[in-house]
Formats: sequence, C-alpha cells, structure tokens
Amino acid sequence: MTEAEYEVIKISDNSWRIEDDMVRAFLFEGTERVLLVDTGFGNGDIKDVVEGLTQKPVMLVNTHADGDHTGGNNLFEKAYMHPCEYSFYYESKPADSVVSPLWEGDIIDLGLRKFEVILIPGHTSGSIALLDCDNRILIAGDSISETPIFMFGNMRSVHAYIDSLEKLSGLSNSFDTIYPSHGPFPVGTDLIEKLIAGANKLLRGELEAEEPPFEVPAKMYVADGAAFFYE
Ligand SMILES: [Zn+2]
Repeated sequence: MTEAEYEVIKISDNSWRIEDDMVRAFLFEGTERVLLVDTGFGNGDIKDVVEGLTQKPVMLVNTHADGDHTGGNNLFEKAYMHPCEYSFYYESKPADSVVSPLWEGDIIDLGLRKFEVILIPGHTSGSIALLDCDNRILIAGDSISETPIFMFGNMRSVHAYIDSLEKLSGLSNSFDTIYPSHGPFPVGTDLIEKLIAGANKLLRGELEAEEPPFEVPAKMYVADGAAFFYE
C-alpha cells in the first residue's frame, strides 16, 4: 500500500484525518510539533503521509493498543500510551519497541494547541480520550462510535466502560464534537448517553443477540442508537 491508498481529509486548519480502510488516525499540528493519534492497521507507510503534510517533529500517541490502532507504530521511534496497555502491546510487537507513559491529566502541548489525557478504561484497560478544550473536541478512540463497540474478550469490561462514559458525560460541557476512530465522523455528544443506556441494557440482559454483519467471535447487540459486539 502506498501513500495514495490512504485517504487524507482536512478537518480544519492544522487538523487532518487519515483513513486507513476501516479505521482512522488523526494528525493535529501546533506551532512546535504535531500529534499523530494512532497508526491504523499498518498496511502502508503512514509516516510518509504525515511527512507529506508537515515537517514538524511528530509525537505518536495511541488511544489504545488494539492492532488496528498500532499497526504503523514501528515506523516511529516511540509511541506514547497508557501503561495499562503495555502488556497487550508487547504481545504483538518486538521486545525493543519503545513506549513512554501517558497518565491521566497529562497535557500534550503542541505549541498553541493542547490536549488533556483522560483515562477511560472499558474497551481496553488503558484506553484514553484526548480533550482539546480550546477547540471543544474530544478524541475518543474506540469507546464512542456509531458502529458496534467491541466489548468481547479479555481486556474488556462493560462495567468499567459505563463508568468511563459517565466520566465523559460529566465533562461534556467542555466539548461539542467527538472524533471517533471508526464509523461516521464526527459524532455528537448525545451519543454518550445512548451508549450508557445501551451498555446498561446489555449488562441487564435486555438486548437480543443478533448475528454480526461480518465474522467476529461474538454476537451483536443493538440498543437505541448504540450497538455492541459482546459474547
Ligand atoms: Zn479500533
């Protein structure tokens, strides 16, 4: 895959989304450096794409360590993520891969553009969101999406997921727009309440198991405006 096979869409001045088949990465530019959020499946050279957009130093941050978000990490010197993702990350990466921690409340300062790290365990234990207070944008990774949220497997916890969504709901006077990694872009803040309601119904067994539209080792559960893959 070459650069031409990525779809690069300018969101606003100094913000781009980089669409890699089923998942998207983001690039945000400040006066000093750029923030790359995730690296897709790693099918092509996303570093090349980034360097075609900016010459500034790149800070790579992963919203979480799922393979569709870290596939191109090897092209960069170092990746930042929450340490609760490390063990899962190293299951699929060379032992000498360099990672650095991002903690709850850390501020990523790009120069005249800042993002705050918010820990939102549930989809994975070290999933993070990034809050751009000045521009009222939340980058939500896989935790908020109109497409089904993957909630099956070892690293997931629906209970923690609901608590994390409640946490984001409590912060929702700080943002108007949510940037998800999958599905329609962008989404509104009302999706948070729909996902909370849907996840609670999922736990209470009130949703009916449906066959997923593609092969995935789980069933699909659909609530009003929210959907999940869950066993
Ligand atoms: Zn994903």
